Amino acid sequence: MAIIETHGETAPKLDDDLSGRVAFVTGGTRGIGAAISRRLAARGATVVAGFAHDEASAARFTADCAWTEVPISVHRSDISSPDECRRSVQEVLDRCGRLDILVNNAGITADRITLRMSDDDWHRVLAVNLSGAFFTAQAALPHMLEQAAGRIVNISSIIGQTGNVGQVNYAASKSGLFGLTMSLAKEAAFMLKRAERLDPDGRNVTVNAVAPGFVETDMLATVPGKVLDGIRAQVPLNRLGRPEEVARAVEFLVSDASAYITGQVIAVNGGMEM
Ligand code: NAD
Repeated sequence: MAIIETHGETAPKLDDDLSGRVAFVTGGTRGIGAAISRRLAARGATVVAGFAHDEASAARFTADCAWTEVPISVHRSDISSPDECRRSVQEVLDRCGRLDILVNNAGITADRITLRMSDDDWHRVLAVNLSGAFFTAQAALPHMLEQAAGRIVNISSIIGQTGNVGQVNYAASKSGLFGLTMSLAKEAAFMLKRAERLDPDGRNVTVNAVAPGFVETDMLATVPGKVLDGIRAQVPLNRLGRPEEVARAVEFLVSDASAYITGQVIAVNGGMEM
């Protein structure tokens, strides 16, 4: 067995160590978001987990997180409102003093075929899934640019890559996140260059997306068992994904290990065709 001699020096910081960093995870108290919050906390980040309209999940999450040694707290805000997005970022800054990691995870569905889709079904899904991500990122970005370091990860979906019957609103919102991710990644790098951060390592603000396939969470709770069996049969790995498996991809994208990756999408979908 190899023994590492440290000669009394502090062990080098691992590149997936997030201690000292502050993360805001929207929709972070349930499902995929809760798995992301827990994973980032396990790596040492101070986590603020957002939620809306769901006190029960926030209370359960708070109780579940009693094990963490780092601070992890919840914050209620409805990100379908641009003002609430801005207020949320300010709240994280007031509470924790900085913001290093933003995970735009909150998302909803309102499935209906196009001919039956109401104005509200369309606007609500776009407001949470796409506009919510934009306005939260817009509020967070100046702080990341100021410190020339930060990570934004947008949780999209395989549906944004393939489309789906009855989900034109959801698919449009999730495809929109790809355009948002690619553009924001370029803008962040460009703004740091303009700010004369000439040291390339000083342009350390990245923006990426994760596109999960079908993952076992409350979001799939209303999908009939037969339909889920059909989905499973289409997945080469022959099972649904687990929230923790999406969280692992996010953990990588927010760590120093991914410093040279920006404007990209990581698919976590069991090998499904896009
Ligand atoms: P979920 O329904 O369990 O959780 C959604 C979260 O979003 C909740 O924490 C909720 O509080 C939050 N939220 C909803 N509306 C909000 C609002 N107006 N303001 C603030 N927060 C709000 O869903 P999940 O399956 O964990 O999904 C998480 C993300 O992953 C979503 O963006 C979803 O589209 C995406 N996704 C899920 C799957 C899947 O199969 N479960 C697949 C691909 C992508």
